[in-house]
Amino acid sequence: MKKIIQFGSALLIVLFIVAGYTGVWTEKPDKTLLTAKAEKADVKPKKNLQPGLINIPNAYNVTGKSIKSDEPAKNSSDKPKENSADKTVLNNGSIRGLDPKKPMVALTFDDGPHPRYTSEILETLKENNEVATFFVLGSRAEEYQNVIKNITANGNQLGNHTYDHKQLTKLNKLDIESEINKTSAILKNITGAAPSLTRPTYGSVNDNVRMYAGSPLILWSVDTLDWKTRNTNKIVKQALAKVKDGDIILMHDIYKTTSEAVKIIAKELKSRGYQTVTINELYEARGVSLSDGKEYFKCPSTVKKDNK
Ligand code: ZN
Repeated sequence: MKKIIQFGSALLIVLFIVAGYTGVWTEKPDKTLLTAKAEKADVKPKKNLQPGLINIPNAYNVTGKSIKSDEPAKNSSDKPKENSADKTVLNNGSIRGLDPKKPMVALTFDDGPHPRYTSEILETLKENNEVATFFVLGSRAEEYQNVIKNITANGNQLGNHTYDHKQLTKLNKLDIESEINKTSAILKNITGAAPSLTRPTYGSVNDNVRMYAGSPLILWSVDTLDWKTRNTNKIVKQALAKVKDGDIILMHDIYKTTSEAVKIIAKELKSRGYQTVTINELYEARGVSLSDGKEYFKCPSTVKKDNK
């Protein structure tokens, strides 16, 4: 009997030790690892906001590797949501079978969403198996949440165009951050992911905007002047006249004439051999990583000879 009790208690002690060990190995190291990675991810992008770095003349940081800020998302399931959103778009890119050696352009739309014209444009893009980037206003996103959901549903990208279209260059640090962050929070609420890119209103950028927008600043290389002409033929002409590989085309998804123009532009780009892609797809395909606080007007071409 005494022996049995002795054996029993020895067994219990052994079990206790083993259980203790497994507990330690399954939880603690993972958690510390994740925290360390997450903290790193939080600190890194801010480095790009240092004024010294912003003044580097070469806007393009060619790495040939995937966008840096994507990496932490692999290790953490719940931390940087906006990065995993980029990933979805990029994955869609490869699923869509993009060829980085063939010409690409990025259609971009500002000032929406519009309940009718954004939806029409989404339909046109879908019919042509094309995607675009929509730089939306937070105030309108709040109002037309379903349109926002439809934008991301087909692999289109969402970007930040401030809350109510204030000119950021006239604002101080707090107001710039408020315009951007309020819109990011609204979009995250609707789609589960905050946008990773900003298009500054009126294309105006100064040092404050570079420092406090907290994301890459996407401008354009082709201006369709759709807001000015409100003429479908002129918009089409303006968009296609000088278009070349790597161009970023500016339009506004709040006009009927723009929606009509996109029907022609989408088809014509395709027939000229262009792949119509999101901003993330465009830069990812060419191995260019986007940095916070830097301006991007177009993506450098790696295609030997542009299709004409
Ligand atoms: Zn605008």
